[in-house]
Amino acid sequence: MADLLLQGKICLVTGASRGIGAAIARAAAAAGAMVAINYCRSRNLAESLAEELRNEGGQAMAIQADVGSSADVERMFATVEKAWGPVSLLVNNAGVSLRELVTHTSEDQWDQVINTNLKGPFLCCRRALPHMIRSRWGRIINIASVWGMRGASCESVYAASKGGLILFTKSLAQEVGPSGVTVNALAPGPIGTDMLADELTEAERQDLAADIPLGRLGSPEDVAKTVIFLLSEGGNYINGQVITVDGGWTA
Ligand code: NAP
Repeated sequence: MADLLLQGKICLVTGASRGIGAAIARAAAAAGAMVAINYCRSRNLAESLAEELRNEGGQAMAIQADVGSSADVERMFATVEKAWGPVSLLVNNAGVSLRELVTHTSEDQWDQVINTNLKGPFLCCRRALPHMIRSRWGRIINIASVWGMRGASCESVYAASKGGLILFTKSLAQEVGPSGVTVNALAPGPIGTDMLADELTEAERQDLAADIPLGRLGSPEDVAKTVIFLLSEGGNYINGQVITVDGGWTA
C-alpha cells in the first residue's frame, strides 16, 4: 500500500522544524514511519509539527540538538532509542547557507557552515551506523545541493560544504554498502523555503524560476517525495548516487 511504505520504521530527520525537513517529516509520517523531528532553535515550530503528526495518528517527537555538536547528537540518538529503538532511516537535512564574498567571510562563519552542513552529517552517520551495520539494513540520505556540484560566485563556503558532503556520501556508500546500508545524496536546485527567501529578493527568485525548464522553483514536497522513494523499496539498489531535483535547471 502506497501509504505504508515505511511502516514501523524509525526515521530521524535533522533540521525538520521548517522548510524541506518539515516536508520530509510529514511525508515519512504519512508513509507510516515513526518520525524524530530535530530542530536547533525553532522549538515551537518543531513541537507543533510533532503534535500535527500525532493528531493524524502518527508517532512523532521533536528533539532539540545542534547537529554540529557531538554531545547534542549523542543525546538526540539516545532519546530516540529510549523512546522507540534505534534509527534505521536517517535524513541529514539540517543546513545553513551563506552568501558572501570570501574576502568578507569570517572564520566563525566558515565554522558555522562547515559544522552544520558537513560535520553534522558525519556525526549523525557515525552515531547511526553501528546499529544499521549490526542489523545489516539502513538508509541514509544526505541533502546536498546543486551548488555543491557546480559552485557559484559568493557561495564558496556553502558550495564547499555541500561538495564535501557529496564525496562523503559516495565514499561512505562504498564503505557500508557491503553491510546492507545505502547512502545517497540529493542535490536540490532552488527550493521555495526561508533559506531562499533570506538569500534572494522576490524579483531575483522570479528571474531564477524563469531560468528553470519547468518554469517554477521547487517545493519542499518535490524534494520530500524523492526522499521517500529512496527510503522505501524503490531505493533498494540505489547507492552512492547524487539525485538532482531541480526541474532541469542544471540539465
Ligand atoms: P531552512 O528553511 O532555512 O531550514 C533549515 C533547517 O535546518 C531548520 O529546520 C533549522 O532549524 C535547521 N538547522 C539549522 N542549523 C542547524 C543545526 N546546527 N542543528 C540542527 N538543525 C539546524 O532551509 P531549507 O531550505 O529547508 O534547507 C534544508 C536543506 O536543503 C539544507 O541542507 C539546505 O542546504 C538544502 N538545500 C536547500 C535549497 C533551497 O533552495 N532551499 C537548495 C539546495 C539545498 P531551526 O529552525 O530550529 O534553526
